[in-house]
Amino acid sequence: MPAQLVARPNSCAILTAVTVYLVGGGPGDPGLITVRGAEVLARADVVIYDRLSVASLLDLAPPGAERISVGKAPGRASVPQADINALLVERGKAHDVVVRLKGGDPFVFARGGEEVAALQAAGVPVEIVPGITSAVAVPAYAGVPVTHRGLASSFTIVTGQEGEAGVPVDWEAVARVGGTIAVLMGVAKRAEITRRLLAGGLPSDTPVAAVTWGTRPEQHTLRTTLGRLADEPIESPAVLVIGAVATLDLRWYEDRPLFGRRIVVTRAREQASGLVERLQALGAATVELPVIEIGEPADAGAALRAAAARVGEYDWVTFTSANAVTRFFAALGDAGLDTRALGGLRVAAIGPGTAEALAGAGVRADLVPERFVAESLLDAFPAGPGRVLLPRAAVARDALPAGLADRGWSVDVVEAYRTVVGRPSPEALAAAASASAVTFTSSSTVTNYLAVAGDLPVPPVVACIGPVTADTARTAGLTVDVVAAEHTIDGLVAALVDILGVKPA
Ligand code: SAH
Repeated sequence: MPAQLVARPNSCAILTAVTVYLVGGGPGDPGLITVRGAEVLARADVVIYDRLSVASLLDLAPPGAERISVGKAPGRASVPQADINALLVERGKAHDVVVRLKGGDPFVFARGGEEVAALQAAGVPVEIVPGITSAVAVPAYAGVPVTHRGLASSFTIVTGQEGEAGVPVDWEAVARVGGTIAVLMGVAKRAEITRRLLAGGLPSDTPVAAVTWGTRPEQHTLRTTLGRLADEPIESPAVLVIGAVATLDLRWYEDRPLFGRRIVVTRAREQASGLVERLQALGAATVELPVIEIGEPADAGAALRAAAARVGEYDWVTFTSANAVTRFFAALGDAGLDTRALGGLRVAAIGPGTAEALAGAGVRADLVPERFVAESLLDAFPAGPGRVLLPRAAVARDALPAGLADRGWSVDVVEAYRTVVGRPSPEALAAAASASAVTFTSSSTVTNYLAVAGDLPVPPVVACIGPVTADTARTAGLTVDVVAAEHTIDGLVAALVDILGVKPA
């Protein structure tokens, strides 16, 4: 009988749900996990991760998922492999979705094979989700392709910790292969590796690129030669790229305007993604510190539903946030109505973000002021009389309703949602305290940030979306370094590039 047809303990895997997923998390940039990896993480009951797994990937798991670190941490030995195997088997039997998250690819110097063997021996079903290995991606982020026409027709991935691998590396033979050599875990042993590669015939002027913390904001690339490698200061973890391709310098990542900057985003999680994506695209690392959570209003939305049901009685509906838009249209639906109920009236939005949310609901705003603050909306607003519905946060400034009343309007302010102080994790707070900048997109982000940050140091650059937010920050004793000229997310990002974008000499 062919070997693959022999019954194995998990041969019933097709009938049972897969329980343990070995997921490659990629080399560091959280965007470099696979779609499949992100999908299973989002369903995880348990995540078991290493030191080199990416912290922000853990956020992809549901908030209630159990998170277990088995990696080395300063002052703590790593968990022995046998204990990790036993833990995987134990959790795998107890839960539906257990994710074993590893840096890079789970089968490249990561002992994934041993874990799979242990799980299969125990009859626990397994799925392997390969990852992007640092051996290829880290050089790529340094602008070094591992193969290149005319320079390298092969690449060899070698561990510098052959003792751990249990099989010796014939470094002299590796030297004779030609092509590119990518050494992982080689920093500590680089003197000996160099000696043996030279002994194998590689010239001492063979180019080397040593890339530390690749694909992360801390990425650092050192260019040298094999002859000098042993004496260069290199920190771990690094990929040592040895060979002619190391002369290539197709820089892109380290040249991004916000490369190396860590920027705190304080918006509510639902709203943070636009700002986070723009900052990351410019090379910044982001710390999501959702100091605001959007909650039900005190009356659980009763007043908003009542107002939505009578919306036809108003002349205007005025929105000052995307949240208010989302909540209002949900209430309209609850009242058995849809956008046609707004047919006879006009709609104002305080800024483009709010207008975009309206467009998403199928409504084009009749009025978006030039500057995105209440005063500017008032300037653009026609004179009353008539009725205005203003659905908004429970606690908000009085400037808008008071100004509208001055212009002859009868204004109904209705609570659409309530913002409550978020509870960021201690890790997120610590990461925020060491960031280069903190961004505030509303007065409540300022107030809540100060409430949750307590005595932790404020990042050196404080950036505010507009003058009202900046005033709140100043009143609270912060020094405001940046106020966006255009009071939008794009304006805020542009202002940050202005102040942080020039690299220190
Ligand atoms: N399974 C992983 C490798 C684990 S061994 C993979 O496929 O990438 C750990 C070694 O990988 C480190 O010592 C270092 O050589 C390399 N490494 C992993 N992530 C890295 C990173 N972000 N920057 C530089 N080297 C990295």
